[in-house]
Amino acid sequence: LSNRLQETIKKITGKGKVSEQDVKTMAREVRLALLEADVNFKVVRSFINDIKERAIGQEVMESLTPGQQVIKIVQEELTNLMGGEQSKIAVSDRPPTVIMMSGLQGAGKTTTTGKLANLLRKQYNKSPLLVACDIYRPAAIKQLQTLGKQLDMPVFEMGTDVSPVEISKKAIEYAKQEHHDYVLIDTAGRLHVDDTLMQELEDVKAEVKPDEIFLVVDAMTGQDAVNVAESFNEHLDITGVVLTKLDGDTRGGAALSIKAVTDTPIKFIGMGEKLDELEEFHPERMASRILGMGDVLTLIEKAQANIDEKQAKELEEKMRTMSFTFDDFLEQMSQVKQMGPLEDLLAMIPGANKMKGMKNVQFDEKQLISVEAIIQSMTKAERQDPSLMNASRKKRIAKGSGTNVSQVNRLLKQFNEMKKMMKQMTNMQKGKKGKGFQL
Ligand code: GDP
Ligand code: MG
Repeated sequence: LSNRLQETIKKITGKGKVSEQDVKTMAREVRLALLEADVNFKVVRSFINDIKERAIGQEVMESLTPGQQVIKIVQEELTNLMGGEQSKIAVSDRPPTVIMMSGLQGAGKTTTTGKLANLLRKQYNKSPLLVACDIYRPAAIKQLQTLGKQLDMPVFEMGTDVSPVEISKKAIEYAKQEHHDYVLIDTAGRLHVDDTLMQELEDVKAEVKPDEIFLVVDAMTGQDAVNVAESFNEHLDITGVVLTKLDGDTRGGAALSIKAVTDTPIKFIGMGEKLDELEEFHPERMASRILGMGDVLTLIEKAQANIDEKQAKELEEKMRTMSFTFDDFLEQMSQVKQMGPLEDLLAMIPGANKMKGMKNVQFDEKQLISVEAIIQSMTKAERQDPSLMNASRKKRIAKGSGTNVSQVNRLLKQFNEMKKMMKQMTNMQKGKKGKGFQL
C-alpha cells in the first residue's frame, strides 16, 4: 500500500497519547490507501467505521500505549476482513478428495493445478491425480501434461472429444483404483463469464460433487477479480479462492475485498510462475504485509505481556518527580531482559532488517551483566543518591563488581544523561497537556 499510510503508522506508533484527531487522520490515510489499492468502497466504509469505533473507545483510552493499540486494532480488523483464521483445504473422509478448479482464461487454473498438486505432496504427503478437462484447446491438455512430467505425477486425459463430465467421472474411478487421495480437475475458462461456461461447470459439479470448488482469480485484475468472484459464486457456490500473480505489481486490494464481498475464504496465493510458488493464505500475515509492519505486533504483544502496566505507571511517576534511582534502573533492566535476547527484539522492529549492517550488530549481553553487577555493588544510599559517589566509593564498587573504575564512571555518566533526558521529555509532555482525548 501507499507510503503515506506507512508514514502515518510510523508516526502514530510511538504516541503516548492519541487524540481523536490522530485517529481521524489515521482513518483517512487508511481509507485512501484501501481505495487506492482497489478495495471495494463499501468494504472500505464499514472497515473504517469499525476502526474508528474501536480506536476512540475504551480499549485505547485505558491502554498505556495508545498509539500501538490503534495500530493493533487496524491490523486485527484487516485480518478479520480477510477471513480471520487461516482456511485449510478440505480432506474427504471417503477419498479421493475432489477439487475442481474454475476461473477465467489466463487466471492461472492450469498452473495452479500443478502447484497445488506439488504442495499437497510436499506438505501433506498426498498423491494427487491431475485431470485435463479443458477440451477446447489441445494445447491446454499438453500444458497440464508438461506440468505432470515436471512433477513426475500422472495426468488423466481423454483427448478433446469426450465431455468434461464424462472425463471427470472416469478420472475419479481411475483415482480410486490407483489409490490417489486427491483429484484435481483443471477446467476450461473463457475471456468473460458466460452461460455456456457456467453450464458446463455446473454439470461437472453435479456429476462429481467436488469437496472443494476453487475459483482462481488474477490479483492483477483488481476490482474486476471481485466481480468475477461474485458471479462464479452465484453459479457454483465456490468454497475457496486462489489469488494468483500476487508477486506482480499488484495493489493487493482484491485480497481485501474478496472475502468481504463473496464470504468465501482465500485459501492459496500464487507468488510466481514456478511450481513451488503457491502458498497457503494466512490473513494475519497478509495484514501485516499490507501494513508493512514486520513482526511489530509480536513485539507489542511481548512488551505488553512482560511489562506490568502498574509498574510502568509508577516508573513514569518517578520520572516526572525526578526520583528515579539506580534501583528503578535495575528493575527496568530486568523487565527488558524478560522480553528475550536483544537481537531477537531488534529483528522484530520493522525497517531494522533493512538498515545497512544491522544484521551484524551483536548486542553485548556481557556489558549488561556488568552494569547489573555495578549497581548491585552499590549501597542502598548510593543507589538512591548517586551524588554521594566519590573516588573511594567508586573503587570499592569496581572491586565488588569485578569491573574497573572507568566502567563505573561510564555508568554514572550514562545514568545522569538519562535523567537529564527524562527531564526534557517530561517537560515536553507537560507542554502538550490537555490535548488528549475529548469524546
Ligand atoms: P489458465 O488459463 O487459467 O489455465 O491459466 P494458466 O495456468 O495457463 O496461466 C496463465 C499465465 O499466468 C501463465 O503464463 C502462468 O505462468 C501465469 N501465472 C499463473 N499463476 C501465476 C502466479 O502466481 N504468478 C505469476 N507471475 N504468473 C502466474
Ligand atoms: Mg488452463
